Amino acid sequence: MSRSRRHSHMRVARRRALQKAEVPHLVPCPKCKTLRPAHHLCPNCGTYGGRQVLPLEEGGRRAS
Ligand SMILES: [Zn+2]
Repeated sequence: MSRSRRHSHMRVARRRALQKAEVPHLVPCPKCKTLRPAHHLCPNCGTYGGRQVLPLEEGGRRAS
């Protein structure tokens, strides 16, 4: 039951490198329709997974 070493490290590494070259899956934000990588925070409105994660700018009420 030894399933190790079916491929050399070099072989696996080369295949993984090819797979990693894929472009990130872009999906439109459900809120603002901005294309963003799937499972990433929206850079435009700060929504992730249907929830507001980052506070929206509300007329610059925050004094920084
Ligand atoms: Zn958005």
